[in-house]
Order: sequence, then structure tokens, then C-alpha cells
Amino acid sequence: MLILDGKQVARARFERLKVKIFDFKAKYSMTPGLAVILVGENPASKVYVHNKTKTCNELGMSSTQINLPATISQQDLNARIAELNADRSIHGILVQLPLPKHLSEHKILDEILARKDADGLHIENQGLLWAGRPRIIPCTPNAVMAILEHYQISVASKRAVVIGRSQIVGKPMASLLLSRDASVSICHSKTKDLLAYTRSAELVIVAAGQARFLGREAFAKGAVVVDVGIHRPTSGDFANKLCGDVRFEELENWVSAATPVPGGVGPMTIQMLMENTFRLAELSLAESK
Ligand code: NAD
Repeated sequence: MLILDGKQVARARFERLKVKIFDFKAKYSMTPGLAVILVGENPASKVYVHNKTKTCNELGMSSTQINLPATISQQDLNARIAELNADRSIHGILVQLPLPKHLSEHKILDEILARKDADGLHIENQGLLWAGRPRIIPCTPNAVMAILEHYQISVASKRAVVIGRSQIVGKPMASLLLSRDASVSICHSKTKDLLAYTRSAELVIVAAGQARFLGREAFAKGAVVVDVGIHRPTSGDFANKLCGDVRFEELENWVSAATPVPGGVGPMTIQMLMENTFRLAELSLAESK
């Protein structure tokens, strides 16, 4: 089984991006800037936000972290986003999800200017993606495509199954696979006989958010399996360890290639955010000319 090493792919892309950013700054006297908004005290979100701002700085881009209380009103949060929209030194804005229940995620995401939308979740960017004219692509599905591309795994004409239909992973994932000529089925929590889909697929992207719920029984021999899930169970054999939606250890001598967790899609997702931020800075420059 070929292990699709997202960490290694991310490292190679990181080095290439660092050079591009260095050249861009030297040529245009402009530093790409990302602002990350964290609402509340979710411990996992805090770690993600820290990693994002740290990676940004390591690449030579600027990063601003804005911590807001969990009790913030929609109006006040919108006002903070409006300030960032108007700030010319900020090219990408990201609101860390999930948000506290009283806030409407889609309303907030749509407050971000579409051309500063680092996560590609603004309705305009989602529409462009589905129209086959992508501008900014959501980081996680883009990470999956980049991993497949790196290992020269073609998806054209393949039977692909995406498990999950969220705005952030499942739907854009299906759209990207479709744009590369895969035949795509989208499965979700209401799908009957999930295994009938997965067992006949050549490529399965698992993004159900259910820790270790699929193993060897779910996949055809020789399939390619990409595990998007990230969990840190509080009990059982994997207590306090990172694991995915797939029981990775069961795949050896069965599937042809698979991503591990940790070290698969996760590190590449941050890298794609960095690439999106740089792209937004390039777009901003092009618009100002
Ligand atoms: P979500 O909860 O919004 O969506 C989960 C989807 O899976 C839903 O569409 C649901 O219908 C489907 N689903 C749930 N149980 C199912 C089942 N038993 N059978 C079939 N479908 C089922 O989650 P999300 O935001 O899309 O994230 C999915 C997973 O990916 C989570 O574990 C999340 O932590 C992880 N994630 C990882 C990264 C990364 O960087 N690697 C980024 C985002 C999300």
C-alpha cells in the first residue's frame, strides 16, 4: 500500500511557496497578510488558529489573530469583519469554525469580501467553483486534490465516492472531483447501504466526522482511500491520540493507497490556506493595477 504522505507534500509546497513570497515581496514591496478570527475558547480551534498564524509568519507573510468572546453578537462580529474588509494590509480573512450556536455561520462567511475569502466559503466563491470557474477553493478538498496530484493518481473516469456533504469538505470535494472528470457519488448520514457505494468505488474520500468508523470491509481491493476525519477520542484504545474516520491499520495489503491520520490531509489543509492567502494578495495586486 502506498502511503499518501501529506506532511511530505506540504513540506515541498511550503518551500516553493516561501520562495514565491520572497520574490513577490521584493518585487512589489507588499507583504501578503492573513487575519484569523477566533470566537470563543474551543481548545481544538485555538490550536488550529495558532498553527495557521505561525505557518503564515514562517513563510514571510503577516498574520493577525483576533480573539473575540464567545458571547459576541452577530452585529459586533460583522463590524470587526467590515474593518478587516477595509484594511488594505489584509488580503485573506478566515473565521475559524465552528462558531458558537447563536451565530449564523453562513451569514458571517458572506460578510467577508469574496476577494478576501481565504477559506473559499463565501457564497460567490462556492458558486464560481460549481460553475467550473474556481477563484478560491476551500482548503481541505483542495488539499485532497493536491495530494492525489502529487502522487499522480488520476481521477478521470474513476468511480469516486465522497462520504459527507458539508459546505466545507463534502460538497466542494465532489465538485472538484467532477471538474476532473470523475464519476462522483455523494453519500451522507441518510444514505442507505453506504457500503454498496464504497465497495464499488475506485476512490473513496471519507469526511463523515465519525472516528474510525470504516475499515477494510468498506473498500474494494486496490481502491484509493483518503481520510479527511480528525478526532482525538477521550476514551478507548485511541484515547488522547489523533485518529481519522478510517481504521488505517486494516488497509495494508488491501487498498492500493491511503492517507494516514495524522500526517495526511491535515498538514496539507494548512498549506492550502497559505497558498490561498498568497493568491488573494496576487489578485489584490492585479486589481489595483
Ligand atoms: P460535518 O459534521 O459538517 O459533516 C459530516 C458529514 O458526514 C455530513 O454531511 C453527514 O451527513 C455525513 N455523515 C455523518 N455520519 C455519516 C455516516 N455514518 N454515514 C455517511 N455519512 C455520514 O463535518 P465536516 O466539517 O465536513 O468534517 C468532516 C470530518 O473532517 C471531521 O472529522 C472534521 O474534523 C474533519 N476535518 C478535517 C480537516 C482537515 O484539515 N483534515 C478539515 C475540516 C474537517
